[in-house]
Amino acid sequence: MAEDWIDVSVPLRTGMGHWPDNPPVLIERALDIEHGDAANVSKLSMGVHTGTHMDAPVHFFPTGKGIDSMPLTAAIGRARVIEIFDPVSIKPEELRPHLIQPAERILFKTRNSSVCWQTNDFVKDFVYISSEAAQYLAEQKIQTVGVDYLSVGGFFKDGPETHHALLGAGIWIIEGLNLSNVRPGLVELICLPIKFEGSDGAPARAILRLVN
Ligand SMILES: [Zn+2]
Repeated sequence: MAEDWIDVSVPLRTGMGHWPDNPPVLIERALDIEHGDAANVSKLSMGVHTGTHMDAPVHFFPTGKGIDSMPLTAAIGRARVIEIFDPVSIKPEELRPHLIQPAERILFKTRNSSVCWQTNDFVKDFVYISSEAAQYLAEQKIQTVGVDYLSVGGFFKDGPETHHALLGAGIWIIEGLNLSNVRPGLVELICLPIKFEGSDGAPARAILRLVN
């Protein structure tokens, strides 16, 4: 029997944590039945790199593809959840034993999942993909990588370098997953970013279920 789908996206709400120089999330009623309007209609203001979202190459490469050009198969299909025990960053030494193969979709579960989504404050010391590990993933020619906080690169270190290595290698990036309810192993993944024309990123709903 197939296991149930697990929602690994984080809820979007006013005041939630975001990257420090990115816009805050503000969701409010533009029309409100309580105020005499015929319907409730919400209005949304936020950066596209907040909550669960995907990055497109144009995020770091001015002539790169936008999120609407993502092949749907990049984020739909078999994926592998790999648990990372390093409390600081993801390094090639911890990845090598996992024998990562070309075209894989890899999701990293770190301590971020259980720590970072508990607060509305931005967590600066989240576990990130070191530029060396990003280079390693590029060499393995994976298709997609997912991480469980707001950036593949660190706040203090390897931000642009890690993005360049991954996006430059044509790897699609999912950020902001909450994998706390997922055990490592093979999964079926569905993650669909909203189709903003030419956008450097877009919020996404991501769900997965374990493959027996
Ligand atoms: Zn992003």
